[in-house]
Amino acid sequence: MSVNIAIDGPAGAGKSTLARKAAEKLGYIYVDTGALYRTVGLYSIRKGYDTKDAEKVISTLDDIDIKLGFTDEGQRVYLNGEDVSEAIRTPEASMGASNVSAVPKVREFLFDLQKQIAKNNDCLMDGRDIGTVVLPDAQVKIFLTASPETRAKRRYDELVLKGSDVTYQEVLDDLIKRDYQDTHREIAPLKAADDAEIVDTSDFTFDESLDAILAVIAKKL
Ligand code: C5P
Repeated sequence: MSVNIAIDGPAGAGKSTLARKAAEKLGYIYVDTGALYRTVGLYSIRKGYDTKDAEKVISTLDDIDIKLGFTDEGQRVYLNGEDVSEAIRTPEASMGASNVSAVPKVREFLFDLQKQIAKNNDCLMDGRDIGTVVLPDAQVKIFLTASPETRAKRRYDELVLKGSDVTYQEVLDDLIKRDYQDTHREIAPLKAADDAEIVDTSDFTFDESLDAILAVIAKKL
């Protein structure tokens, strides 16, 4: 049986960088499930659809084929054969992902893909509902969080490094809005599984956060 580690938490908690690093140390693959929702959102955005229009979004699902690739540098995501790993990282795609992720049919559409990967690989999977819905039997569940201000600052620094001209306030507003949407949606809302270990990284450096995660994993496995 494969080893599955679920890491959930709000946007900007550092899940992806930490999970990638932890997976590398353990020799597991790292699966970023947010990329799947972003890809579905991106497709609708490119079509000129409103990502809040559930019917329009659902109508695209038959035309979408998503594949994940796992390389030494991390995960790549392919939309109908095109590598969209970078294209899905814009603020528009973030909000689009949050919008389409509230559509039950979209979650169903992505469920099997996530399940299949977890069944066939030792993996560390990050998202919002991995410990609660996708992998309820994961051997380790971690809920990674930090204050909104800390998360916004980290996300802001990351975007500026990439050459974006967003302001800190825009990033914070966007994050608070996404948190609200993600925790208040009817289906698979963002919340810690009852058996998840909560790790709050507000006052931690990156290395301290990584150590905290690895300590939880070592304790559970
Ligand atoms: O993790 P990331 O910021 O890339 O996720 C983008 C959006 O996708 C989130 O705001 C959330 O709405 C949605 N998502 C989700 N379930 C997951 C992963 C992401 O609903 N497992």
